[in-house]
Amino acid sequence: MRSREELIEVLGAPLGDLATDGALFAEAAEVRDRTVGDRVYVRGLIELSNRCRKNCLYCGIRSGNGEVERYELTDEEVLEAACGAWSAGIGSVVIQAGERTDEAFVGRIERLVGALKRRSEGALGITLSLGEQTAEVYRRWYRAGAHRYLLRIEASSPVLYGRLHPADHRYERRVVCLEALREAGYQVGTGGMIGLPFQRVEDLADDLLFFRRMDIDMCGMGPYIEHPQAPLAAVRSDFTREERLQLALRMIALLRLEMPDINIAATTALHALHPRGRELGVAAGANVLMPNVTPEVVRGSYRLYEGKPADDTDLSGFRVVRDRAWGDAPHYASRRAASKSEE
Ligand code: SAH
Ligand code: SF4
Repeated sequence: MRSREELIEVLGAPLGDLATDGALFAEAAEVRDRTVGDRVYVRGLIELSNRCRKNCLYCGIRSGNGEVERYELTDEEVLEAACGAWSAGIGSVVIQAGERTDEAFVGRIERLVGALKRRSEGALGITLSLGEQTAEVYRRWYRAGAHRYLLRIEASSPVLYGRLHPADHRYERRVVCLEALREAGYQVGTGGMIGLPFQRVEDLADDLLFFRRMDIDMCGMGPYIEHPQAPLAAVRSDFTREERLQLALRMIALLRLEMPDINIAATTALHALHPRGRELGVAAGANVLMPNVTPEVVRGSYRLYEGKPADDTDLSGFRVVRDRAWGDAPHYASRRAASKSEE
């Protein structure tokens, strides 16, 4: 395990040439091969809706952006997208959307998860990424059949979090949600954005320590990318886009070395900054890909940031697990076993 100072030293080394990080990436990839295997797991990402009640300062589909055409997929469209993924050999899907907490939405997700489970006779793995909810809602969705949940902390520093969100968004609430998810039984994934305005390499080191402290099962991190209709775009980041990509790769590699047996995604935002961004992520220790399987008609409307790739389904450059395995992180099984033996 590296100390905070050691993490800062690696993250703070001069940026500009990916080749200088070759040894770090190779070590992380080697650890990945030995712990979670040398193949990547694929989840089909379904972007259910861009309606959102929140107003995060960095995000293109924030409620305050009046220029977005809002959409919501029908149950049939979601089932079709999931079936398409299944036919392509993908054993699990991620359902993501803007945040809504009204009972109409909560009940709909509960029924939809149940329908997906029934339609696949239990075989389809379901991950949700639907923001902050009450512990009871998390339990309902878990009982319906979802078993993994992604909720990024975005920035583990409460001060930085505060500068990226309106005053009524609460850092503490996000942490409480992560704890509630774990309590409900989910495999818990979190993560953050890299290269944000106001962010320093010390904050990124603290993100890694936060992931370790939270004992997470999965992580999705990616470079921050401006969205022209989001207010944060008016604030300059200390890092160029190339530097954010390199920092994101360093973060992936360091996290793999710190937490060898978790799942780490090579995210779409890496791909947005570099045509081979996801390949670079895997070479730095990631083992999960989340290609978009959302129906094409609505794809342009789920624009979290500028330049989000419209099609990222070409996985020809990867050694992919094709047997529809869920690909749960070994970390989850070992932490459950550990907590049982303590009881
Ligand atoms: N509403 C849910 C899920 C959808 S947003 C939630 O917020 O949890 C999914 C992720 O998109 C967020 O967690 C955030 O990290 C990322 N995101 C949003 N805007 C972004 C931007 N401008 N650049 C990079 N990532 C962004
Ligand atoms: Fe909504 Fe998520 Fe975007 Fe925040 S990041 S505005 S919660 S979709």
